[in-house]
Amino acid sequence: MDLIRTRSELSRLDGLRGRGPLVLVPTMGALHDGHLSLVRRACDLGSAVVTIFVNPTQFAPGEDFAAYPRDLARDLEALAGLDTAAVFAPLPEEMYRATDGVAVVPGPRAGVLCGARRPGHFRGVLTVVAKLFNLLRPDIAVFGRKDGQQCLVIDEMVRDLDFPVALVDAPTRREADGLAMSSRNRYLDDDERRRAACLWRALDSVRGLIADGERETAALEEQLALFLADADALDYAEIRALPDLGHPERLDGRVILAVAAQVGRARLIDNLALDVGAGAVVETSLLRPLPAARKERN
Ligand code: AMP
Repeated sequence: MDLIRTRSELSRLDGLRGRGPLVLVPTMGALHDGHLSLVRRACDLGSAVVTIFVNPTQFAPGEDFAAYPRDLARDLEALAGLDTAAVFAPLPEEMYRATDGVAVVPGPRAGVLCGARRPGHFRGVLTVVAKLFNLLRPDIAVFGRKDGQQCLVIDEMVRDLDFPVALVDAPTRREADGLAMSSRNRYLDDDERRRAACLWRALDSVRGLIADGERETAALEEQLALFLADADALDYAEIRALPDLGHPERLDGRVILAVAAQVGRARLIDNLALDVGAGAVVETSLLRPLPAARKERN
């Protein structure tokens, strides 16, 4: 596994090109099994290149940029245990010449949910992802469904700015009680950890109501919020249409149930994407599946 710390060393990735797809997995490190499931998926698709970079521009003042867990040695050990081809772990000064330089303006999908509550967040995410796409020139990039709106906002950027990369959204890995794995779960004490499971319980319970035939968005959102009573503060509990995140009065077709809540000092998010079209209510991906030809490793 090749460890790359600077832009100039990125030319070493050229040795991987032409040997099947180069598959990027961007992360902020503090890797857990959720991240590693993305890396395994990337390894199945081609040469996996993982980036580890806590991106300052996606944190607002007062958010947890300084406190965000960082443990490069442990992350490298976890990645070396998989078939990872290379890791790009740049220092902030290597990534940004100026943090207030040119940036990507997010599209309409960033105007709701987390985008409405974390001003500048998706501008920071899209800017760093665009830079990683340009620096590493991947054929495929894998993102977690856990950050559902992020997948959709990046998909919108790739479409509108014509990035030559195919996107894959990988399923959310969960703890035994359903809590989505997250680097921020380490902020939770025992009581908070127990209460944090209410995010998944809310999503799963409301899935049950939808399966039983309820289609009124407002009634279902009210139930989502009720199930989140164990959190310290509700940020949002919404159901939106896929992929453009509109807000229909009644559920039809593909939708995403999305929740965000504060538990202790952790702001936690989770979501569940469902196809409620004709027939049974089934879990769905956020993005279109890769064309079959892209799945082959040469
Ligand atoms: P982060 O380091 O939090 O920026 O996450 C890096 C990537 O891992 C993103 O694409 C996340 O959506 C994804 N990810 C985070 N948590 C999970 C999880 N529990 N299951 C699957 N993917 C995840």
